[in-house]
Amino acid sequence: MIKKNQTNYSLFGLPEKVEFCKKCVESNQRFMGSTQLNIKKNDKKLGVSFDSEGVCLSCRYYEKKENVDWKEREKELEDILSRYRKKDGSYDVLIPGSGGKDSQYLSYMLKYKYNMNPLTVTWAPSMYTKIGLKNFNKWISNGFDNILHTPSGKVHRKLSQLAFKNLLHPFQPFIIGQYNLPPKIALQYNIKLVVIGDSYQEKGVGGNIHSEKKSSSQLYAIEKKERENLYFGGVHISDLEKYGIKSKDLNQYIPLTTEKVQEYGLERINLPYFLNYNPQNNYYFCVEKMGFEPNPDGRSEGTYTKYSSLDDKIDCLHYYTWFIKTGRGRATEDSGIEIRNKIITRDEGIALVKKFDGERPKKYLKDILEYLSLDEKEFDEIIDKFRSPHLWEKIKNKWVLKHAVWK
Ligand SMILES: [Zn+2]
Repeated sequence: MIKKNQTNYSLFGLPEKVEFCKKCVESNQRFMGSTQLNIKKNDKKLGVSFDSEGVCLSCRYYEKKENVDWKEREKELEDILSRYRKKDGSYDVLIPGSGGKDSQYLSYMLKYKYNMNPLTVTWAPSMYTKIGLKNFNKWISNGFDNILHTPSGKVHRKLSQLAFKNLLHPFQPFIIGQYNLPPKIALQYNIKLVVIGDSYQEKGVGGNIHSEKKSSSQLYAIEKKERENLYFGGVHISDLEKYGIKSKDLNQYIPLTTEKVQEYGLERINLPYFLNYNPQNNYYFCVEKMGFEPNPDGRSEGTYTKYSSLDDKIDCLHYYTWFIKTGRGRATEDSGIEIRNKIITRDEGIALVKKFDGERPKKYLKDILEYLSLDEKEFDEIIDKFRSPHLWEKIKNKWVLKHAVWK
């Protein structure tokens, strides 16, 4: 039980003792991923695990990656693709993506190296950035058919507002939408294979290097009866009408049923199981092959990298909310990945976290406030409610982290 009079309790039920991975910069406060569809207000979270030597499971995952026979894995990929490759000119694989470096890399490989005929599918950002739209258009101009789904601006905005206020998670409706749309498009176009390029195992969470080949397509489905018990922005689906959202407005956010996915026989695979790549290499690859452009500001807010999550004006707020809730932000995530890929050392990572982690979004703050219908004072009041006492203290009227990897 949490005693509210303690000054060191975790709002999210995570360990009060903050620890950092001994090999990278990851924190034990990082949330595990979830399906996003049953998050209630004030829910407790599951955090990532470290092993008995204080090392995060993604660092362990990378150690095992060094012994993988990548030639053998590529052969496995070719076998799977040959089962689905069509000769009648119709699409044979669906690739969900934004047109960022990872989806560009993935679609290039499938089309031009493995001779597949992909259809790409995109859930539009809340507010496109100029560079995001430019890269999206470049992707298509490099030879890819695309279905762009743009959700109702009214509904998506209201859901984002609720998710910010109740969960400090303004990106939640986007995550739900982009996750649940692809299988529906696959069904419409009679495509039986979905390939995804993002490996959550490499982002602090870890996983079994030998069994992550297929990410079951059942991850795309829920039981029929569950559909009446979903939460959006921390609000039960039956209460959303109070906010002007009817259940029919949520059609594209709601997953398919288990029966439907089973009956259809969809297969979903993770490309990082089969090919050894990392975000930085994808970036160089896409600059050369596709004309991909990095963030024109030289780096993205909250981090030192310039090539990921560039599409939505709300991206920088998304990472900032991580930092408020967990004390670890976008620079922690990016440098963790680069340390594991041996692009930078742990000491360099620590310096980068100190310099960039938790930078408050400035560039699009005006657009964000307008989108969320808040003034800056209301915005800050909501943010401060999610500062867990075991992570934050106020010194001379300024919020300061009690623990940091650089302290
Ligand atoms: Zn680690």
